[in-house]
Amino acid sequence: MMKIAQTIDAIRAAREEYGLESVGLVPTMGYLHEGHLELVRRARKENDRVIVTIYVNPKQFGPSEDLSRYPRDMEHDLELLSNENVDTVFAPSDEAMYPADYQTTVIVTQVTQPLEGARRPTHFEGVTTVVTKLFNLCRPTRAYFGQKDAQQVAVLRQMVRDLNFNLEIVVCPTVREKDGLALSSRNKYLTAEQRAAAPALHQSLRAATVLWAQGERNSDTLRAAMLDILSAVPSARVDYVSAANPTTLQEYSDTVAAGQGILFSMAVFFGQTRLIDNVLLPPGAE
Ligand code: AMP
Repeated sequence: MMKIAQTIDAIRAAREEYGLESVGLVPTMGYLHEGHLELVRRARKENDRVIVTIYVNPKQFGPSEDLSRYPRDMEHDLELLSNENVDTVFAPSDEAMYPADYQTTVIVTQVTQPLEGARRPTHFEGVTTVVTKLFNLCRPTRAYFGQKDAQQVAVLRQMVRDLNFNLEIVVCPTVREKDGLALSSRNKYLTAEQRAAAPALHQSLRAATVLWAQGERNSDTLRAAMLDILSAVPSARVDYVSAANPTTLQEYSDTVAAGQGILFSMAVFFGQTRLIDNVLLPPGAE
């Protein structure tokens, strides 16, 4: 039977029971799709116990973002997770996570600054704070995150190193629809017309990847190739396109030096809905 923990005491008690067994943790905001479920399956394969958290963390949403309309379907999520043989779901209330006298924020100072951090200034401190709490409560052996959120992975790796969390971060590939659109809970907001146009993100990443494979190393040319494809989509409004160092996330300028990898990424608005996507080409993949 899958356990459902909703309080701090309940998740502590569940974790206590697992003792020295290995624990895989999959943090999510719910409204689960195949992307989330791939993380869960990987965790299930690699650990004695699997804990999935479902928590729409208010601290990682900006004041003008979609917190209040973020999609939720707890009943369906629990059914999906039960089918994957998850041991415990932690689904706390806001009051349990952030009681009235709550005062502490975890901040990673540098890798949080560019890209998503530049457009969503308090997003990553919300992420690092809640993930720290989840790590302390669940004490995972391994924690599973999606490559879909590339900067989140870079930020959390930095935090785990800096704060000496005794766990392994496991990154799982981005799960996509047949037409290339990365699965996201936010895809549900798209109108039929926007949904039809949304694979442009993936197409532009493919175009940059092809150029990179052909030896193109001018970062302006690589960004322009992505922008060309996105600009041709009338319903799309580009927030940014990036060709950056995959570790520091600093934007490349001019020519990318030999032996460097590259992270192509972007954020694009369709109406109010903001979609992100990326592809990571590590050094040696050229
Ligand atoms: P979220 O519920 O959006 O906070 O996502 C929870 C976890 O699932 C994060 O580690 C995401 O990176 C990951 N995730 C979301 N969408 C995908 C996807 N399409 N493929 C792989 N992982 C994903």
